[in-house]
Order: sequence, then structure tokens, then C-alpha cells
Amino acid sequence: MKEIKFQNVWKSYGKTQVVKGLNLTIKEGERLILLGPSGCGKSTTLRMIAGLEDITSGDLYMNGRRVNDIPSGKRDVAMVFQNYALYPHMNVIDNITYGLKVQKVPKEEIKARLGSALEMLQLKGYEERLPKDLSGGQRQRVALARAVVKKCDFFLLDEPLSNLDAQLRVSARKELVKIHDMYKQTIVYVTHDQIEAMTVGDRIALMNQGHLQMLDTPENVYHRPANIFTAKFIGSPPTNIVDMIYQNGKVVIGKQIFQLNPMWINQIKKHNTTELVFGIRPEHIEIFNSPQENTLKGTVKYIENQGSSYGVYIELEGNELIAMSENKKWGPGQEVYVRLMINHIHIFDKETTNSIGYPKELDQ
Ligand code: ADP
Ligand code: MG
Repeated sequence: MKEIKFQNVWKSYGKTQVVKGLNLTIKEGERLILLGPSGCGKSTTLRMIAGLEDITSGDLYMNGRRVNDIPSGKRDVAMVFQNYALYPHMNVIDNITYGLKVQKVPKEEIKARLGSALEMLQLKGYEERLPKDLSGGQRQRVALARAVVKKCDFFLLDEPLSNLDAQLRVSARKELVKIHDMYKQTIVYVTHDQIEAMTVGDRIALMNQGHLQMLDTPENVYHRPANIFTAKFIGSPPTNIVDMIYQNGKVVIGKQIFQLNPMWINQIKKHNTTELVFGIRPEHIEIFNSPQENTLKGTVKYIENQGSSYGVYIELEGNELIAMSENKKWGPGQEVYVRLMINHIHIFDKETTNSIGYPKELDQ
């Protein structure tokens, strides 16, 4: 099994704990995204898989064998680094094939692998160039090609697209998924960019401060966030988070009341506390000019043009809510009435910050 398994893995540098009790199984052949803010421990986690960092405690298994003490060269990994790490004095061909020559792969085999990698990554015509004579996107493709030709079971990528401009990133993401469809390696892909995580990942492992926050499909990470951190990290603008009190089927936010439906009332009743936190994504709030059934009153503070829509910042009982609107008919100072789409709300325990779960009626 080309799977990777972390069992209660800790990593410290001196007294600083960087990865804290990681339990994570990466399945054979999947594209697993390690996502999280800068400094949360993603690269360290990836480098432990690559065998470039010691494991402080716990066990790491790859292909079913414990690899804590197995050197990098014997783990069957290919890695693409954030800065590409190409050899500046070698041309494209030599950069791609150097590792294979060192491994004494037969010449014919090297030629075949090189040919298909050049084709796949659209590097034909650039074979003789040095890295300094390539664009950022081309260098990135050389780095990918160099990793691809190794034909390893495990393909590790550390923010491989972060140096590319937005357009190139979109095409590089597609190329990467294509490569994976061909080779079916187990991919571990580090990024801080949630869009990249959503588009490339079969599953996302979201980390914060060395802790795994959630491990699930992109759909579930978006629609069923396990905790407040996940709800806020995924989506742009982020999920609105509002303190609430639950009373007899109603949500009390400041002086206003919002009626819950029976499925949510049952869900809250299963939980032991009424001190809850309410989450709603900006795209799941409707704005009206006048009071409607089950709306809350707020005041527009600011409008942000986001191209395809407008972000409307609304003050509501001391909270700032962001709602998305397709038009610009709201202006600062205006009184508005908002409705929170009941099938898209999230409720968290205030103390643990964990989700109280979702009514089963919401599962299709
Ligand atoms: P990420 O890739 O998520 O941005 P890293 O895994 O690179 O984060 O780093 C996690 C934390 O570990 C950071 O706070 C970083 O400063 C620290 N760190 C990384 N490498 C070292 C090191 N060699 N010595 C001390 N601290 C380190
Ligand atoms: Mg990093």
C-alpha cells in the first residue's frame, strides 16, 4: 500500500513544538492537500515524509513500513520545492535527468521518460536552455518534470505554484492534475491558498499551529466545517462568526431574534449548551430594503467591489457581517434587513469552538 500514516507524530525544534500529535493517513493514489496559514507546520510535515527532518516522537509509516529511521533516498519520494532548486549551470535536459543518471537508470529508459515529461509539461524547444533563460512558469515546469521522471510512489510538492502569476497558476493546476491522472502517485501538496486546495485536492488536511483541524473532502471542508477555525479559513470573504444565545427555538443576537426551524432546534437539543456561536457565509445572506419574515435589522457600513459581486459590510448588534450582493443598490448608512439562509448556517460550541453537527435533514 502506497499510503502514508502519521501516528501521534510530534516535531520540535528545541523547545518549540511545531507539529503536535499528528494522526493522519494519506491514502494510496490520492491528492492530499496540506493547507493552513504560514508557519502552521505544513512544510515541516512534508519534510518529515521526505526524510529531510527527524521525527521527535511518534511513528511515520510509508508503504506499510515504519520509516522514522529510513533515509530520504530509500523512501521512494520525489519532491518539488517552493523555490524549484534547479541547478543553475545545467540546461533543461540535464536538470531533468541528472537524478536518473546518478541512479544509473539505463540510457534508453532515461530518454523515454524525458521525452514524455517534455511533452507533458510543454517544454519542447527549451531543452538546451539554462534556468536563467527561462520564465518562472517554465522553471516551475522543469522542476515538476524532474520530479515526474523519477516515477516515485510518493510525490511531494511544497507550494509549487506560489511563484507564478495568477493565469499561469490556473493552467499549472490543470497540468498537475493531468500528470496525476497519468501516473497515480500518492501526492502530498502543501499550500496556503484555499483555492488551490479546493481545485487540486481529493482531500484537504487543514492545519493551524501544529494541530490538524479537519481532514475531509473540499466539499465537506466548505459546507461542513468541523470548527470555527475551518469555517473562517475556507471561503473568501470568510464566514461571518457571531455570538448567540439559544432560547426556546430562537437565536438571540443582541436585542434581535431569529427563528430557527425544527431540524436545527433538534440539533441544538442534542447538545448540552446554549452558549453557541453562529456562522454564516457571506454568499448565504440575503439583503432586503424592508423587513421580511425572519430578517434581522442592520446598517450598511461599507461596500467592496469584488468584480462579479459586491461585498456589503453590515453592522448588526455590534457585529460586522459581510454579505454578498450582485448589485450595488446599498450605500453606507442605509438600514437593511438580512435573512440568513437556514440550510446554510453553522453552529459551534462557544467553549470548544467545535461544530455541534448538522441536522440529518441536510444530507441528501
Ligand atoms: P509552514 O510551511 O506551514 O509555513 P513550517 O513548517 O515551515 O510552516 O514552520 C513551522 C514553524 O516551525 C514556524 O514557526 C517556523 O518558524 C518553525 N521552524 C521551521 N523550521 C525551523 C528550524 N529549522 N528551526 C526552528 N524553527 C523552525
Ligand atoms: Mg512552508
